[in-house]
Amino acid sequence: MKLILLGAPGAGKGTQSEVISEYLHIPTISTGNMIREALKSGTEMGLQARRYVEAGQLVPDEVVIGIVRERLSREDCAGGYILDGFPRTIPQAEALERMGIEVDRVIEIAVSDEAITRRMSGRRVCLKCGATYHLDYKKPKVDGVCDHCGDALVQRKDDRPETLQERLRVYHEQTEPLKGFYAAKGKLFVVEGQEKVEDTTRLTLAALNA
Ligand code: ADP
Ligand code: ZN
Repeated sequence: MKLILLGAPGAGKGTQSEVISEYLHIPTISTGNMIREALKSGTEMGLQARRYVEAGQLVPDEVVIGIVRERLSREDCAGGYILDGFPRTIPQAEALERMGIEVDRVIEIAVSDEAITRRMSGRRVCLKCGATYHLDYKKPKVDGVCDHCGDALVQRKDDRPETLQERLRVYHEQTEPLKGFYAAKGKLFVVEGQEKVEDTTRLTLAALNA
């Protein structure tokens, strides 16, 4: 099963991909997490990416396409995977096709800009393992501590309100056209994002026929 999760920043792609990943026993490939790791460890790619990420803009296609190509060629991707945050532009989707990859389904998690803006103020992440939490909807077992690895939870710089508005603008302009791209291929399934994580999960699994 090769899946793409599509949706605005904060729509809940990361949260749902964690659940589906466990359910289907396939890895989640999150370009957002890979880029954040590169920022943290200060690799060449991280140095190139920082100014885009901090401004709420997309990292150039060729940079992201390169890291995805490398990641998908690894052993653990042989039985399928979930792409979270890629493709995010039409050229990225075309590059995926040129790699000879045919995805099975594209699931859009649809959430209004207003709901996203409300939600994002409560988002917290673990920079060590990439797990995401929410102060109201997905609390860690211990306040401020990652359930998986015990690292401290933080608010991402790019979750600040001004940057979020820019990310939403970029989403509508550059990523939303992918809906038409995949709908035309009969691959798009829309899931209305719900207030409760488990409700969205139920609808997402239904869309997978899982
Ligand atoms: P979001 O919460 O906006 O979905 P992610 O965690 O997926 O964000 O990504 C964080 C940032 O990393 C994005 O705002 C963008 O700058 C960069 N990024 C992630 N995936 C891509 C991609 N496929 N193409 C370009 N930039 C990306
Ligand atoms: Zn962690």
